[in-house]
Amino acid sequence: MAWSSIEEKLTSNLARIREGIDRALERSGRKGPVKILAVTKGVSPALIEKARELGISIFGENRVQEAREKVGKGTFAGAELHFIGHLQTNKASLAARIFSCVQSVDSTRVAFALSKASVRYGKVCRVMIEVNVGRDPAKFGVSPEDSLDLARYVLGLPGLVLTGLMTVAPEDPGVARRVFRGLASLRDRLLSEGIPRDALSELSMGMTSDYEIAVEEGSTMVRIGRGLFGERA
Ligand SMILES: *Cc1c(COP(=O)(O)O)cnc(C)c1O
Repeated sequence: MAWSSIEEKLTSNLARIREGIDRALERSGRKGPVKILAVTKGVSPALIEKARELGISIFGENRVQEAREKVGKGTFAGAELHFIGHLQTNKASLAARIFSCVQSVDSTRVAFALSKASVRYGKVCRVMIEVNVGRDPAKFGVSPEDSLDLARYVLGLPGLVLTGLMTVAPEDPGVARRVFRGLASLRDRLLSEGIPRDALSELSMGMTSDYEIAVEEGSTMVRIGRGLFGERA
């Protein structure tokens, strides 16, 4: 595809996603706002630059190494960069250095490693707890019943600021709705257990195939890859 038509496509895709979010907010009687996180795994720095020109300011990568290469080229300078993949403890130090937020904290080990690195760098790393709401053995995330203990653990660590919960739903739209609803009610349960509201303000849920459902169920941040940049190679 010619570069100019790739640019046009991104422009119209972004408009369509924004409309979809607005429609879902209207249907559910929610006010929003809902943030768009652009998932840029496999997306070239040039196209990311174009997305920034269109006003996108939050990006997500799921591999530390790929993100590091793009960061080295200055691709995300001045924007927010979130880690949304599975984090291995031995990559936590690098992750704490290059990401503004790690959405996929699902163990005390990873939380501790991120905290230690953040303190060493003298910076604050925002984190979310990834919850495996559907107890899908093929997915990462802490189980709903272990999430309270993990939230309390994270709140006690220096260098980390807990901002909310994240989940990845399965393909089936009916199941996805149950999972999103489950994350929202887990948030309410953690609030009632005394986790501060600030630490639970974000619900990162919804991707290209299910973001409207997620917004209807309370998402504050949708993570969109293919819906913006087209199918991955
Ligand atoms: C790839 C990815 C997305 C985006 O998926 P699309 O279907 O391309 O919108 C969202 N969240 C996570 C965790 C991902 O790995």
